[in-house]
Amino acid sequence: MFSKNRNSIVAILLLTLLISGCAKNIVPAATTTPTFAAPTDTAVPPTPTVTPTATDVPYYVDATVWTGEINAPILIYHYFGRDNEEDIPTTWTRFKDFEKHLQQLYDNGFSLVPLSSWLDGTFIVPEGRKPFVLTIDDFWRSDQIYVDDDGTPSPYSGIGILWRFSQEHPDFGFAASGFSNMGDKFFSDTLLPAEQRYIRVSADNSPIWRDRLSAAMVWALENGITPYNHLFTHPKLDITMPQDIQYQLAENDRVTRFYLTRVGREDLIPTLGNIIALPFGIWPATPSGVQVLKNYKNPEGLPVAAIMEAYNLDAATLTPSVFSEDFDRFKINRITASDSMIQFIIDHKEEIPSALTCRVGPIEEEKANDQQALRAAIAASITSGNCPEGVYNINGVVFDARGGTVEIFQP
Ligand SMILES: [Zn+2]
Repeated sequence: MFSKNRNSIVAILLLTLLISGCAKNIVPAATTTPTFAAPTDTAVPPTPTVTPTATDVPYYVDATVWTGEINAPILIYHYFGRDNEEDIPTTWTRFKDFEKHLQQLYDNGFSLVPLSSWLDGTFIVPEGRKPFVLTIDDFWRSDQIYVDDDGTPSPYSGIGILWRFSQEHPDFGFAASGFSNMGDKFFSDTLLPAEQRYIRVSADNSPIWRDRLSAAMVWALENGITPYNHLFTHPKLDITMPQDIQYQLAENDRVTRFYLTRVGREDLIPTLGNIIALPFGIWPATPSGVQVLKNYKNPEGLPVAAIMEAYNLDAATLTPSVFSEDFDRFKINRITASDSMIQFIIDHKEEIPSALTCRVGPIEEEKANDQQALRAAIAASITSGNCPEGVYNINGVVFDARGGTVEIFQP
């Protein structure tokens, strides 16, 4: 008890010094004590004969560190249903159940990371929290995202629910990816009853739903919701000819860009990525069909960053990260969201790493962005036992500091 109190006192003293901002001048026990000229009786303030030089306190940078086996769950949602809607298909999730899933994941320490950062290794979450990725297939429908006249996503949409939850829980983060079928998933008025919601839109020639879709896309891209390619009309790729697979990919991308261009937001096109999710989780039947997928470049010439599988219903697995031996960017597995799959994730949460924070250094302050200096500082911090081996993220630069070496990570 006594020593604990004493530690507290020391801690308070240190804290006081730091807060008072005088630590910089106090740290060296002074080899040169400043001496002052004798005060005179004039009004001139005393002039120091020796200017005290600010001696640098050791400088450190904070790193987010991942250790052990680095993997995470990637969830798939599809459509969302009203709480009072009966007999919804199994691929739908009621709004209240979606909110319950988010709460469960949050309470068990999970935070969202964007799919793109999961794939390139730059993902981070607040200290102590665990990563997961959220994807929505068969995008864009109004129950998934619908932007109200006030510019916020409707609470009667999955993204709207996610956005509200993230506003209330900032450490949960906000990110999701939607895999779109621009050829057969019709947007609509989210306030219509379910049975009219889509039929009416496809029969209706008015441009209103197109405006709504463009507005949803613009909001999404400006707020961290990234659309990717689920092929134009959700074809079964095992019975689709290779040239038709190419058309299905390219047409989906073309129409996506059309909805941005028609509202003058071509500036958002360069932010579009290139990731494919297999419709029904089905691969093409022939090697040439598979090559069409793997070799596909989007209209801006970006190669495919990853191919997402589905649906993992009976054999759920966590997805290896880009730092894992068994990572395959053309075979990214996902878990279809349901109450039991959320429970699966919670049951396996100890297998998913929590983000650690480690102070790397000391390092010269002006070299805090010098990658070679950071490499050396990480190595020294590990050797001294102050930081563990692992994957380090310092201001978005990733270092693989495992197996006795420190390398700048390139995915
Ligand atoms: Zn689908």
